[in-house]
Amino acid sequence: MSEVASVPLLDLQAQYGPIRGDVLAAVTRVCDSQRFIGGPEVEALEGELAVMLGVGAAVGVSSGTDALLAAMMALGIGPGDEVVTTTYSFFATAGCIARLGARPVLADIDPVTCNIDPAAAAAAITPRTRAIVPVHLYGCSAEMAPILEAASRAGVPVVEDAAQAIGARYHGRAVGGLGAVGCFSFFPSKNLGAFGDGGLVTTSDAALANRIRLLRNHGAERRYFHTSVGGNFRLDAIQAAVLRVKLPHLAAWTEARRRNADRYRELLGSLVVRGLVELPVEPEGLYHIYNQFVIRLDERDRVKAGLDARRVGCEIYYPVPFHLQECFAGLGYRKGEFPAAEDAAARTLALPIYGELTEDQQRYVVESIAQIVG
Ligand SMILES: *Cc1c(COP(=O)(O)O)cnc(C)c1O
Repeated sequence: MSEVASVPLLDLQAQYGPIRGDVLAAVTRVCDSQRFIGGPEVEALEGELAVMLGVGAAVGVSSGTDALLAAMMALGIGPGDEVVTTTYSFFATAGCIARLGARPVLADIDPVTCNIDPAAAAAAITPRTRAIVPVHLYGCSAEMAPILEAASRAGVPVVEDAAQAIGARYHGRAVGGLGAVGCFSFFPSKNLGAFGDGGLVTTSDAALANRIRLLRNHGAERRYFHTSVGGNFRLDAIQAAVLRVKLPHLAAWTEARRRNADRYRELLGSLVVRGLVELPVEPEGLYHIYNQFVIRLDERDRVKAGLDARRVGCEIYYPVPFHLQECFAGLGYRKGEFPAAEDAAARTLALPIYGELTEDQQRYVVESIAQIVG
């Protein structure tokens, strides 16, 4: 057994250490300017991200949740509308649809990738459908070609929930620039994490970008003259300054996560051969950024308890699909309706994957799993 005594699910201190001086200098710059809302840091970040993501416009917002909300508000989604999305994601994906008074129409997932099943999404389209919202879960792109094709046939936009997938690629193209709108999160645990909440909306539709900028600021065309009802969805200058320090490191951090994923595949190999563990898959042509490294096991809950006892950080993303959430009981879905999502909810487990994770730590994680599953 290795010398390691515990492994956290995520170690933000390890990432912060080497960039601490640069971060503090950037924060100091904002403090000295006393410009906290909008301004040059936010605008510079938006420009840098638009280039990186290959989109016409990037609009900084207050969180990934507000990115989804503002994007769907800008598309005019509201009461009486239906929005097709996956039943298996972080709550915000379906929550934002419901908050607008629209109905989340849920689709099951692909049992291998955990992303929305394109055929199920297409089958869920009705004359009331106003958008399709695929999620690039865990940092791997959804199978976009058939989704974009179904959306185009129905004449509705695709809103990408790319909150977990900044830098992920679908056949060479960055996610968030594939559909009409992309939504990103800078929550601290995402691959590009702020020092608090933050988010981004991307689009190459200039009119839509302008609407989102307007909605971000209470729909005020000029101060105190409101052409529509928006919200306070703004990104803080301090967050933008921190993100600008981190952005040049993102590609290397992502590569480190991918190397760790490769090492897990090697270390977990014998458990896989014995049918005790299933590995995540990176489909051909897709570039997975491993916001999460999610394995599957029978007796997942027993394994999680064993890892908790051995002080190995792990988490279940997510234990309850949307169709079984109490708050969505009114949608009328039943248990058993989306079997692939229910299987994922029962058997998935995310392991530590952050870039600074050491080989010894990874060995400890895998040895711990091996002890538990015998
Ligand atoms: C994190 C996340 C969000 C929400 O982002 P916040 O910044 O936490 O509001 C939305 N969708 C998915 C899939 C996420 O993982």
